[in-house]
Amino acid sequence: MTSLEQKLHFDTIIDRIEKARLRVSDHHIVKIVAASKYVGESEIRSLYNIGHRAFGENKVQDMKIKVDALEDLPLEWHFIGTLQKNKINQLISLNPYMIHSIDSLELAYALNERLIREGKTLRALVQVNSAYEESKSGFHPDEFTDTYTQIASECPNLQLMGIMSIGAHSDEIKVIQKSFEITHSLFEKIPNAAVCSMGMSSDFELAIACGSNLVRLGSILFK
Ligand SMILES: *Cc1c(COP(=O)(O)O)cnc(C)c1O
Repeated sequence: MTSLEQKLHFDTIIDRIEKARLRVSDHHIVKIVAASKYVGESEIRSLYNIGHRAFGENKVQDMKIKVDALEDLPLEWHFIGTLQKNKINQLISLNPYMIHSIDSLELAYALNERLIREGKTLRALVQVNSAYEESKSGFHPDEFTDTYTQIASECPNLQLMGIMSIGAHSDEIKVIQKSFEITHSLFEKIPNAAVCSMGMSSDFELAIACGSNLVRLGSILFK
């Protein structure tokens, strides 16, 4: 794609998001995190050049390569994948903007402990498995609220901002919608939560209709 083609393509996606969010409310603002796992430095640079700055990676090693290569740009890095405990130190050293994927108490405690040691804090979302799928990470919806409260009170160096989930893997819109509705109703129960991260390339308009205010878009942007 030339940069003009890329800009026009990005504009069509922004337009779709705009229409979806206005159907919710004039005041419903939706943030885009570009899931850049499919691409390298140059594609990220060109998306930055047309005005985008929030990028998400799901592997710490890949994130490190891109953070280092793009150090000259004021990018906002989101960690969106499953975090292995042995990668915690490396992730913290990259100073990401936010981690979306706190999926166990053990991980929350371990992150908090290392953050304290480094004198840092980190914005974080707690992941819920609202699709009830074995293959997905995240807390069971029934245990979500208590767990969130526990992490908030016991892990002061994690700045909890809200919830993340991946929509049900299904061809049935109703099934996907149900998973988003479960996530959004949990989001609404969290005091002071700001971020409801749900919606990917195949389902972001539905996610926004269900109340998402952050979509993570990969293939639709880069493929
Ligand atoms: C890759 C990825 C995305 C984006 O997926 P697409 O379907 O390509 O838009 C969103 N969230 C997570 C956690 C991902 O790993």
